[in-house]
Amino acid sequence: MLTIRNLTVSYKTRLALEGLDLEIKPGEIMGLIGPNGAGKSTLIRAISGVIPVQEGEIRWLGKDLIRLGARARARLVAVVPQAEHQGGAFSVQQTILLGRTAYMSWLGHPSKADQTAASQAMERTGLQSLAERHNAELSGGEQQRVLLARALAQQTPVLLLDEPTNHLDLQHQLSFLRLVRELADEQNLAVLMAIHDLNQVAQYADRAALLDQGRLVNLGTPGEVLTPETIQAVYHVSVQRYPHPQSGVPLILPEINPPGSNEHSK
Ligand code: ADP
Ligand code: MG
Repeated sequence: MLTIRNLTVSYKTRLALEGLDLEIKPGEIMGLIGPNGAGKSTLIRAISGVIPVQEGEIRWLGKDLIRLGARARARLVAVVPQAEHQGGAFSVQQTILLGRTAYMSWLGHPSKADQTAASQAMERTGLQSLAERHNAELSGGEQQRVLLARALAQQTPVLLLDEPTNHLDLQHQLSFLRLVRELADEQNLAVLMAIHDLNQVAQYADRAALLDQGRLVNLGTPGEVLTPETIQAVYHVSVQRYPHPQSGVPLILPEINPPGSNEHSK
């Protein structure tokens, strides 16, 4: 279990996360939601160790990640970052092998185990036919799969994703989210995924953690968290909620010209 206790993070004087408590179980997808600037990326960066933590604990099975060295931490936590420009000079295969850095010796050559992990990750994400392709020659959907494959090659029990479907069309959003769901189930991964689409959270996440202004303001199943009242309070948007006709999970629809909206009605 990934256990976060009383986590406080600030950038210089700006408080970005305050007193956050959260637990994520193996096999569970936690949807991390909240408005722009709420602190989602900050939480992901704090867990992965790329920014310092002022206060609190982040533990995996009792082991304090904050006090762990970068290599040891990279064997426990992998990140699919917000769409980033990949070095065009690297091939897909080389990029995925970068996920093995925490296992290789300094300037070391990839071992048999590294090669196996990379090709398994490539296979699982359906990238074999693109192995020799350079990153600059990939579509957005393919690039996201490469980032996921690089994280899988790391063979960590914890997977963090920061708005991984942002630049993808609907088909690629859905196939990416289904793949994450399958991986969480198959590999018993503890997944924390920042994502804006509340309907996708309802469909693919086991629980949702709602951040607002650096604080965890709601935590529970998507059905518990995604109420019109909560959404109104945090996003300042009036919505209606219906059960999805097939799955029954909450379906969130913004209201058209709700009373008090500043949209022009004439
Ligand atoms: P989210 O991912 O939910 O949109 P972020 O975690 O990126 O939010 O940002 C949380 C808060 O921290 C915001 O107020 C943002 O302006 C601030 N912030 C983010 N990154 C930095 C940074 N590198 N330096 C200073 N402030 C930052
Ligand atoms: Mg962000």
